[in-house]
Amino acid sequence: MKIGVLSFQGGVKEHMDHIKSLGTDAVEIKDCRQLDEIDGIILPGGESTTMGKLLEITKMMQPLREKILNGLPVWGTCAGMILLANSIEDSKSYLSVIDISVRRNAYGSQIDSFRDYALIPEVSDFKIPLVFIRAPFITHLGDNVKRLCTIRENVVAARHDNVLVTSFHPELTEDLKFHEYFLSMI
Ligand code: GLN
Repeated sequence: MKIGVLSFQGGVKEHMDHIKSLGTDAVEIKDCRQLDEIDGIILPGGESTTMGKLLEITKMMQPLREKILNGLPVWGTCAGMILLANSIEDSKSYLSVIDISVRRNAYGSQIDSFRDYALIPEVSDFKIPLVFIRAPFITHLGDNVKRLCTIRENVVAARHDNVLVTSFHPELTEDLKFHEYFLSMI
């Protein structure tokens, strides 16, 4: 099994390290020809507007969207979640592969970043640490989308079939449970 991490910018290395610590191959993805080599893909945190532009410039947007619609497991963290959402407040959407609406920078700016803990039964029997950095949250969840976690009354993790989204960054903690959960989707 090989996991790709979209590698234009953002938290690439941290995701690669977590996947490798679980004994699974990880590869940086910068070109759409690489999409045929992988069994799942992570869209990391960073800046969704920049990554969205780079998906267009590299002509990866449509091929990646088709792969996901055909079942390629995908996990978007933070900016990655924004790229996957069907709808973004005050902006056009990008890949539009999961029926959620999101609000960018929903908790405020960089200095409003915070850490919390939550029990997410699908993912772990214990509370796990959650790191939020200029994080979005989900303002609308489609009927077929499963809510995985709510923090401060907002939905911050969800899944529909092969598409997993989190507002937070498990790759910035020592905990591997979320990466294990993603691998179990494959
Ligand atoms: N605020 C960023 C955006 O809108 C996301 C921040 C992050 O990925 N940590 O894309």
